[in-house]
Amino acid sequence: MNVLFPIAEAYPFYKIGGLGDVGGSLPPALSKLSIDIRIALPKHPEVRLPKDAYQESSFEIIYNQEALSVNVYRAMLPESNVLTYLFEENKYLSKSTDASDNHADKFSVFSLAVATWVAEYSPYWQPQVIHCHDWHTSLIPVLLKHKHPHLDYKTIITIHNLAYQGITQTPVAKHLNLNPEECHILSWDQQDGEINIMLEGLLHASHITTVSPQYAKEILTQEYGEKIDAILQTKATTITGILNGIDTNFFNPDKDKLLFQNFSKSTWEKGKLNNRVELMKQHGINYDQHQILISFIGRVDPYQKGIGLIIQAIEDNVFPENIIFFFLGTGDPNLETELHSAAKNKPNIKIVTRFDEPLAHNLYAASHLSLIPSRFEPCGLVQMMAMRYGSLPIARKTGGLADTIIHNHDGFLFNEYNHKSMTEAIYQAIEVVKNQNKLYTTMVEKALDKDFSWKIPATEYKSLYENLILNQK
Ligand code: ADP
Repeated sequence: MNVLFPIAEAYPFYKIGGLGDVGGSLPPALSKLSIDIRIALPKHPEVRLPKDAYQESSFEIIYNQEALSVNVYRAMLPESNVLTYLFEENKYLSKSTDASDNHADKFSVFSLAVATWVAEYSPYWQPQVIHCHDWHTSLIPVLLKHKHPHLDYKTIITIHNLAYQGITQTPVAKHLNLNPEECHILSWDQQDGEINIMLEGLLHASHITTVSPQYAKEILTQEYGEKIDAILQTKATTITGILNGIDTNFFNPDKDKLLFQNFSKSTWEKGKLNNRVELMKQHGINYDQHQILISFIGRVDPYQKGIGLIIQAIEDNVFPENIIFFFLGTGDPNLETELHSAAKNKPNIKIVTRFDEPLAHNLYAASHLSLIPSRFEPCGLVQMMAMRYGSLPIARKTGGLADTIIHNHDGFLFNEYNHKSMTEAIYQAIEVVKNQNKLYTTMVEKALDKDFSWKIPATEYKSLYENLILNQK
């Protein structure tokens, strides 16, 4: 079975968040199930081509009435046997961008390049299924349906985060030479002068998945549906929730080369303590070995991750002086400043605002507890990584957090997205850790025992691909 996997991020080529983890770890798991799966990735300016890379094809696309040259490089995803096609285009795709740049153009160009390449420039390898991810690649099913209607690819869009739909006033349909008169979805969508890129894809794809079963139900409700719940309800029978996994070889406390000290289920107490002492030393934090370490790792964004609740908790001294709270995250500059000022003159609060993969691993390994107070969480990988390294999550009961954490068994869940509910859960967790009793030890061992590998989810994707090819979905 041949599957093309166009995605905006794939670790280690490129990662900003959880999408990069999935892009780098799900394809190798599918490949182990004898699927010929190949990734299509933008050659972002940060991507370094590996030594084995070579240029496989070169062609032109027309975007906004201009001819653009596209080069496709072929390379193996490092430490895997998954072939990756890296798409280079020097006006929109492979030049440095920042948040103020127009990503609608960037990913429209990527989608056009992938759709053109697969339909016209890949004669020796053809996918049966094209598995797209988030709004970045959602135009691929639209382009294929309207520009290459004779080709019968099955298309899937996985919603990793419905909050980002790629809604834009940039007339990308016009730039792509998609004629609204030939597509009633497009003409209806554009009535308000905007185009919703993800919605276009969802309405054109053969199937939709989300990254946890709970989120698949939530997106059909007004609370989580991000204003398109009513439309999604009409597609409910073609929406499946498949829980994400993680690369349990890369995230393995027993082998992880980024850790100060490795540990296993039989050595975690000493191992975690030694990692904690070392981490505190490296960051100049005065540490006495009885102090509890709570960490946060995640994007600093105003809507999703509960940063507002964290700032309030720091300001209200929810973390007493005998608790160390270590925050690692980057994103919204104003919120980063607010975090730094809330933590000023509080030696037990450490705020690090950068992207730092080794520090993230060391924090998972060192922490007793990981705080994840998300307003919504499609799946969430942080809780899986935390549990894999024996750090118990304190998380809001939503989306994938609700699917992966069992309250008082391997973590702590709270229901309401507010200060009171989060604070109660933090204090309950602190009590459990403080007593260092059987309950704490048992909870950590249950967390360490959990299987977050791709083994089961990958078989679910495989069945979905098979059913689509057999036309049963
Ligand atoms: P999302 O995809 O919404 O950002 P996830 O929980 O699914 O959140 O995945 C976040 C991923 O990004 C995890 O691998 C986490 O360890 C990593 N991460 C987030 N922020 C940072 C950071 N500042 N430094 C290092 N890793 C980070």
